[in-house]
Formats: sequence, C-alpha cells, structure tokens
Amino acid sequence: MNLFEYQGRELYEKHAIPCAKGFVVESMQDLEAKMAQAHYPVVVKAQVLVGGRGKAGGVKFADNAAQLREVTKGILGLNIKGHVTKKVMVAQKLDFAKEFYLGIMVDRATRKFLMLFSADGGVEIESVPEERIFKTTIDPLTGFQPFHARAVLLKSGLDADVQKQLAGVMAKLYTLFVKEDAELAEINPLAIQRDGKVVAGDAKVVLNDSAVFRHPEFKQKDENMTDLEQEAKERGVALVQLDGNIGVMANGAGLTMGTLDALTQFGGKAGVFLDLSGTDNPEKVAEAVRLMKKAKPAVMFLNLFGGITKCDTVANGLVTVLRKEGVEFPIITRIKGTNAKEANEILHSFGLETAPTLDAAAKKASEMAKNPSAYKIVRATPGGI
Ligand code: GDP
Ligand code: MG
Repeated sequence: MNLFEYQGRELYEKHAIPCAKGFVVESMQDLEAKMAQAHYPVVVKAQVLVGGRGKAGGVKFADNAAQLREVTKGILGLNIKGHVTKKVMVAQKLDFAKEFYLGIMVDRATRKFLMLFSADGGVEIESVPEERIFKTTIDPLTGFQPFHARAVLLKSGLDADVQKQLAGVMAKLYTLFVKEDAELAEINPLAIQRDGKVVAGDAKVVLNDSAVFRHPEFKQKDENMTDLEQEAKERGVALVQLDGNIGVMANGAGLTMGTLDALTQFGGKAGVFLDLSGTDNPEKVAEAVRLMKKAKPAVMFLNLFGGITKCDTVANGLVTVLRKEGVEFPIITRIKGTNAKEANEILHSFGLETAPTLDAAAKKASEMAKNPSAYKIVRATPGGI
C-alpha cells in the first residue's frame, strides 16, 4: 500500500528522522481554519500517490497568507498524471543547499534489502547515471550496520559531519523500514540545509500489502478500486466490478474467469466477478450474496465446483441468506463436484434454477439477463429462519 507523503512524514516523526512539521488541508475552508499553523515561508504540496509532483506544478512556495491561499487554490483539484489532488500539505519551507537521494527496498534477487544513496537527489532516481548511485545489500539477519553507511558514502566526497548525519538517517530509515513492514522507503530529496543540518524533504513509503492489517492507522481507499470492491476486500472477498449486468459468483479465480468466458460465448456480459474461493463457511456465502446485492446485477450466476469445498454447505448458506434477506434478481446455478447431488436437491427444493452443464447455465444466464423480470425472484420470507 502506497502511503501519502504526509503519512510517510508521520512515520519519520515517529522514528526521529528530521523533517519539517506540516499540516494537511482538504478544502479552502479547511485552510482558513488552519491558517495560523503556517510559518512562512511555506512549501505547499499536492498529496497524490504519484511522483514527479514538482515538475507537474504540484509543489509551490508561499511567503504570506495571500500567496498560501492562491497556491493552495491552484493545487487543490489539480490533476497530476491522472491523480486528482484531494489533499494538500503545507509545511515550513526549508533552505536546501544540496539534495541527496536515499532509498531502502526489498531486493527479491538477493532476498535481502537494498540501500541506495546518491548525492544527486531531488530528481527522479531513474534519471541519475548508474555510476552516481551507490548501493549496498543489507542482510535482514544482521540488520543495518555502520559499515553499510560507509559503503555508500565512501565515494560521496561529503564532509565528515554530513556523512555522520546521513549515517544516522540511514540507521533510522532502516528501523522504520523493518518495524513498519515497508517494502520501499525513499527520501528524495534528503537535503542538507544551509545551516548544515540534514533533513528529509519528501517521504515515499510503500507498506507490504500483506502487513497492512497491522497498520489500521493508514487505512485508505485504493484509488483504483470502487467503493464496493474496497468493501469486499476488507471482508476478504475478491470482487471486481465489470461493465456487464450478470453477477458471477464462483469459487477460485480460474473458474470465475472461465465463467466470464462462457457467458461471452452466449452473448452475456458479466457485471461482477466474485470469487468465493475455497470456503466451507456459510457465513462467507451470505457475505458474498450481500456484496452481490449491492452490485445490483440483472441476474446472478452461481458456478460452483466442489473440491475441498462441499457444494451442499454452499447451497445451504445460499438458501439461508435468501430466506432471511432475499434478493432482487433471479438466480441460476450450476453445481459440480463434492456433494453436488445434495446441493442440487437443496437448491431445487428451494425453487432455484439449476443447470446441468456450464454451457447450459451460461446460455440461460445470458437469456435471463435480457429479461430478468420474467424469472422467479426470491424475496425475503418475513420472519424466515
Ligand atoms: P516530487 O517532485 O513529487 O518528488 O516532490 P518533492 O517533495 O520531492 O519536491 C520536489 C522539489 O521541490 C524538491 O526536489 C525540491 O527541489 C523542492 N522542494 C520541496 N520542498 C522544499 C523545501 O522545503 N525547500 C526547498 N528549498 N525546496 C523544496
Ligand atoms: Mg521527491
């Protein structure tokens, strides 16, 4: 998960990496309310999850309140490489004499961490010539050691005092990287001020997605996901919204995708891809049906292949939730595998359509989607169990 710069700065503060204090605003009214916190001159920065904001006009300076209002107005709503700016950070402008680059990342090739330092920071690291970037590999078992700092600073030609400060920042950034479950932590620019102090001028931190649950403080919407996809993700269900009108629920990503293909053959178009994955938990089935309802498909197509998952457990889960909560669309099912016979009986006796083959089900689903009201819809049974 990508963190915004202001969130990265919160982590810097927590790990004592020097950087200027700032505040975040989301609107002009918000700015008015926080105006007194600005210590001029300030830097005003678009908070978007994309680099190169400086060049795109997303980083501006202001010397007084009038200028601060003017540049904030210009940056709020600014589209930077397809990312619309919804938040703006205002921080004290520091007097940079020189800008460096420092980054730590997971290096899959060596199965270790890689630390990169360049005295040519402030620009995108990709544009810095290879020979001007100094690298060292850090073994996670030994962790960061002073020699790692010497390895990347040796040829920098920087003053001993600056090198000492940089080594201190490296040690802290490494601690942050490990403790906060990051897979990338980058300070660009890591600047040296005219008074000789080293300070972070930007923060880019990417947390490992598998560890995000350990960082509820950074819970944030993935900009590429719809609200429903995000909600499904939080509930542990893989759901993708598509542009058709058939809600596909299947178990396993491969089967779900195969179901989409089968629909295409019969002129049907999926509006929802919902992967139940391996589940023997009726409550998860209920959860999936609730998510499907929110997507409002014309018809739902349940395609189940029972391996470890028992078809009758899923069928029972489905029937239970339909009785209690109902749906607003007809349902077609196709069940194969472990306990398929029992499952089909359960669904049949409940009055749901079942099809014997994938083709037959896909054909039926495509037909139903054209005129859903002509088919039976299971409404909730009042007081149903
Ligand atoms: P990016 O372009 O998205 O990486 O945004 P940065 O935060 O790195 O800002 C881009 C550039 O703006 C930096 O490389 C600096 O040259 C400049 N800049 C940002 N903050 C300050 C600051 O506090 N003082 C000064 N003098 N320059 C700054
Ligand atoms: Mg930067």
